[in-house]
Amino acid sequence: MAADPDCIFCKIVAGEIPGEVVQRSDDAVAFRDLNPAAPTHVLVVPVDHAENAAATAAADPALVGRLVSVAAQVADAEGLGGDYRLVLNTGAGSGQSVFHTHLHLLGGRPMTWPPG
Ligand code: 5GP
Repeated sequence: MAADPDCIFCKIVAGEIPGEVVQRSDDAVAFRDLNPAAPTHVLVVPVDHAENAAATAAADPALVGRLVSVAAQVADAEGLGGDYRLVLNTGAGSGQSVFHTHLHLLGGRPMTWPPG
């Protein structure tokens, strides 16, 4: 497993700091966002550290698909009825603040477009 000792999401994946984990597999972990922006706000992250989704896709394209599948399973478990938003912020200018790939799963309220 490739981990960055300075990465907060690597520490959550490793269980070194607390996180409310809702699903875990060999290559992905889903946990609730600390500051939820919707009634359901879960982050789906690869176990292996990469700084953003593009880097994860370059290393293992299928893994990005598996992150989406995990998000869909969590959405079902949360009872979202197929209505949810998936977000991959990439780069500080997009709003990315944690530089370990994470797929936001947001649901449980009406969503507007465009996002801020
Ligand atoms: P970004 O802005 O990088 O797309 O999203 C990072 C997300 O991580 C934010 O929604 C933020 O609330 C969440 N976050 C930051 N630090 C922690 C933490 O220590 N634990 C959890 N569960 N979420 C965090």
